[in-house]
Amino acid sequence: MTTNTPYGADLGEVLKLFVPDGEIGHELTYENGQAVNRVVIGGKQYCFSDPVRAADNALEKKRYEKRAVKLAVYKALSDFYGKEMPWGALTGIRPSKLAYQEIEKRGEFKTLFDEMRVSAQKRRLIEALVETQRGIYEKNDDNADFFVFIPFCPSKCNYCSFVTADIARSGRYIPAYTDALVEEIEQSKRFVKKLRSIYIGGGTPAALPLAELERVLAAVEAPRGTEYTFEAGRPDCITKENVALLKRYGVTRVCVNPQTFNDETLLRIGRRHTAADIREKYALVKDLFSVNMDLIAGLVGETPEDFARSVDAAIALCPDNITVHTLCLKSGAELKEKTSYLSGEGVSAMVEYAHAALAAAGYRPYYLYRQKYMAGNLENTGYTLPGKACVYNVDTMEEISATVACGANAVSKAVFDGCERIERYKNPKDIPTYLAKLPEIIVKKKQLFQKK
Ligand code: SF4
Repeated sequence: MTTNTPYGADLGEVLKLFVPDGEIGHELTYENGQAVNRVVIGGKQYCFSDPVRAADNALEKKRYEKRAVKLAVYKALSDFYGKEMPWGALTGIRPSKLAYQEIEKRGEFKTLFDEMRVSAQKRRLIEALVETQRGIYEKNDDNADFFVFIPFCPSKCNYCSFVTADIARSGRYIPAYTDALVEEIEQSKRFVKKLRSIYIGGGTPAALPLAELERVLAAVEAPRGTEYTFEAGRPDCITKENVALLKRYGVTRVCVNPQTFNDETLLRIGRRHTAADIREKYALVKDLFSVNMDLIAGLVGETPEDFARSVDAAIALCPDNITVHTLCLKSGAELKEKTSYLSGEGVSAMVEYAHAALAAAGYRPYYLYRQKYMAGNLENTGYTLPGKACVYNVDTMEEISATVACGANAVSKAVFDGCERIERYKNPKDIPTYLAKLPEIIVKKKQLFQKK
């Protein structure tokens, strides 16, 4: 990538929508009131001239310029490779947040999304999502979601790039980690102004032994009536005992994450449970909590038909929420080394099937986000039955509230100026550093949240 603008990284992301590695040249000049973007790909030259757009301030001017530059490179790549991408030239992880910004400023987001060549299908997805979020979406600097991270899993799934450790290797840290986490939770509760939700995520929080789990739940001390999610995660960790504990401590939502209902795939991705186990564990929680189920489109070796069977199986169980992820391989995932480049067509068909089947069963999209290296340049979408959306997911994806986060690698976030400005503090990633630096972490978080 060669460019005479400061947008090299952004242009690199646009390029990666089409090819994992490649070379393009780009130059931006201003000539007679026109912004002229020249792009060279494989010896072919493109030139796009557009009137310079009026901006209210320098920040806005830069934003317009960046968009125009990305769009020019996207148009050239699209012509050169003969294809369009579902999200067009948009590369950010929060397209719905961008849509809200446009709605606030111009009363609609369609014009921008059309200009950035977002497909009609994805635009409709955003329209439906904004509709489902009505009544939940609440932009407020004082609102806060409380997040607790448990970085242990019973084994590492081979597509996983999260910071989480196989309990067989890291289990020795559990007692010390629980001590530190309980301390951090106790100290952090005072940073919450108006509590919106609590979320214990991982990793696999249900992998914690009962005694440690109870200490964490007791420290959180959820106020009655608060949305309180426990990402139980893998069915092999859900037991009658930990389910009873969750109920006793006021948990209201549980995530049971099958990823697929195909036994062969479960084996292939390193899971130690079967589809029958998923149904059995679901039966333990379904009458006690709201339940979310996660599925992944694009797991290696799965056909669109395999995936459709998983979607149908999840719908048949009728959980309140179903989240459809698109396989995303970052460094850290064992599978990435074996996968050269992710083809999009099959995955697109999977995502389209899920959307149609879920809509037919009464589910509505209510949050979505994108990541780098997603199969088919698609997205992850959470679907909900009416009135059952998870507030935590809406708040964090739209960045409309603070996050007070505890645990290794947890990211706390304070919001200012009507959520227009965000400041973050990230806890150390690895467990020994987290344990050693706990006093410093608490001081840093206090500084972050006391700026308000
Ligand atoms: S995918 Fe989930 S359960 Fe599997 S290793 Fe990663 S965090 Fe753990």
